[in-house]
Order: sequence, then structure tokens, then C-alpha cells
Amino acid sequence: MNPEHDYGTFESDQRIVAHSRYFAGLMGSYFFVRLRDEQKIVGARCEKCNKVFWPPRSTCGRCFSVLSLENLTEIGPLGTLETFTIVKYREPVHPRKAPFVYGIIKLDGADTSMVHFVDGVDFQKLAPGMRLRPVFANKRNGNILDIDHFEPLDSY
Ligand SMILES: [Zn+2]
Repeated sequence: MNPEHDYGTFESDQRIVAHSRYFAGLMGSYFFVRLRDEQKIVGARCEKCNKVFWPPRSTCGRCFSVLSLENLTEIGPLGTLETFTIVKYREPVHPRKAPFVYGIIKLDGADTSMVHFVDGVDFQKLAPGMRLRPVFANKRNGNILDIDHFEPLDSY
């Protein structure tokens, strides 16, 4: 190494792939099994503040009460589009090829919302308040993509 030479900053691109498995927790396990085996969606209702969380969680995000299986309640399956974004460019990190729509969806009976795909809709007709229904995947593996996507209740 020549100490007189200016080596500058060298950067190298790399891609790290890490496969992992994790325990989804009691509430998460119940949520995913019901979704996979029965195509039912459950949330967790806090008895103290009466909020229903989707997906279910073991601690109320509002009052920190401990929630358990007794707090689980079926929600949806219909929901309302709260807001959305249209992804128009392709990136390796995206789970789908653009263009596609990410929607923030609040299921009937839930007080929180969740991101999922909205398909089968004319992008020009997307609007907050649009009523949606889930379309379940034919082959379900016990993850959130057991709901393949949501689509408008009305046909487009
Ligand atoms: Zn609470």
C-alpha cells in the first residue's frame, strides 16, 4: 500500500438475502391460521377502550391493556379504502410489477387500517371511501398474502 496515494472512497454494490422464520406470537398465529384455513379475518377488541385492532395484537395500542385470545373478534370481510398510492415504477423491493395500487384499508368492525393491494379497479376511479372486498388466494400459506388483494364491491 502506498501511503502517498489517495485511495479515496471505494463503494461496492452488494445484495444481501436473508431467509428467516419467526414465531408470529399467539395472536398472530391465530390470525394467520384462521385466514389460511377458514378465510376469516380477526381483530382484537380492547375491552377497556373498545378499539378493535387489525391485525390483532397482544397489547392495546391505546391504553396498553393486555389482550388475549378472548379478545379476538371476526371483522370484515368488507372494508373501506381510506387512502391509496399508485406505484408506477418498478423496483426489486416491490412485491409486484408496477403499476399496482397500495391501499390503506379499514375493515368493517375494525378501528385500525392495514396496507394491502387493490386490484381490479380503474386507477381514475380510485377514491377514499370506496368499498372493497377481499379476494383470497387459492393456495394459502398462512401469511398476509392469503388475502391476494382487495377489489371494489362494484364491478369496473
Ligand atoms: Zn385499550
